[in-house]
Amino acid sequence: MVVDIEKKLIASITKHARPLRIMHICGTHERTISKYGLRGVLPPEVEVLSGPGCPVCVTPTEDIDFAITLANAGVMLVSFGDMMRVPGNSGNLLDAKAKGADVRMAYSIDDAVTLANNNPEKEVVFFGIGFETTAPANAAAVLRGLPENFSILTSHKLVPPAMDLLIKDINVDAFIAPGHVTTIIGMHPYQPIADMGFPIVIAGFEVRDVLLSIAMIQRQVEAGVSKVENAYPRAVNEEGNITAQEMMQQVFDVADSNWRGIGVIKNSGLCLKTKFRHYDATKRYAKEYQNMLDSTPVNTVSSRCMCAAILTAKAQPSQCPMFGKDCTPKNPVGPCMVSLEGMCYNWYKYSREK
Ligand code: SF4
Repeated sequence: MVVDIEKKLIASITKHARPLRIMHICGTHERTISKYGLRGVLPPEVEVLSGPGCPVCVTPTEDIDFAITLANAGVMLVSFGDMMRVPGNSGNLLDAKAKGADVRMAYSIDDAVTLANNNPEKEVVFFGIGFETTAPANAAAVLRGLPENFSILTSHKLVPPAMDLLIKDINVDAFIAPGHVTTIIGMHPYQPIADMGFPIVIAGFEVRDVLLSIAMIQRQVEAGVSKVENAYPRAVNEEGNITAQEMMQQVFDVADSNWRGIGVIKNSGLCLKTKFRHYDATKRYAKEYQNMLDSTPVNTVSSRCMCAAILTAKAQPSQCPMFGKDCTPKNPVGPCMVSLEGMCYNWYKYSREK
């Protein structure tokens, strides 16, 4: 019986309960945890914290501002749907579209390439965000060759360097690692963090996957060990997707990257290699980029947003004075209320979690 497995896992977690702060780095895990009320059935000693695992939530405001700047300057700006409503310092991409800018939604970089091929008279910029899961598709498109009127605003983030920063910054005992990211990068990149004494279990996205990962972390803690374990073997293997890794290495260099609300994390992002600089929107529009950085206004409303604290598990959404009042999924003030993977969105939607 399906439910029996979940019940047994909860009983086991309860039996082995001890004070434990476990962080996941994945918006999809947060969705599973919030949607099925898992925090409500876990023993109070076991805290499951949400880390910076929502890709649109960690995309820095300057990248959004630059995307809006380009759209307002006449470029066709193409991005994922979630990104459209994330506020920058002066509105979001949908606001720009409403004022006449050419902003299009896409499901992948291939959609954006098709738009560029179909509109050779336009300059097309694809706003490429996300973690190691989305970067390989963009790398593959670059290697296939892109149209001359096409460039990429690259805002990719890497998960392991963020985990490395978090263990220095917050009180956390162990990690649930994201299954989809790990299908690409494999298990080895987490080893240095496990070697520092933090158990890590890679989990899938069903309720039982998340519960199993918590139970496995408990076993490690009880045994006094910290290692990288795989609770998602139906998708993840030790080495990851070598082809995807090689494509990423051919196209991107690892670089320091700014995470919204967190700041610059060393070696936590990807930028296009020099030989692909003609596809790099920040290079192609270097003057516009610098002007935008020089003239960014201060947004007093979003400065009250607590997403920075929420993304690092230092606060919960309900502690934000705007939660559910000024800030709702219909009128999001901060990025955590926009995406299906955002912590504030999930807390708002699944009210039993509030
Ligand atoms: S409720 Fe809204 S304003 Fe408050 S932290 Fe969440 S996204 Fe930011």
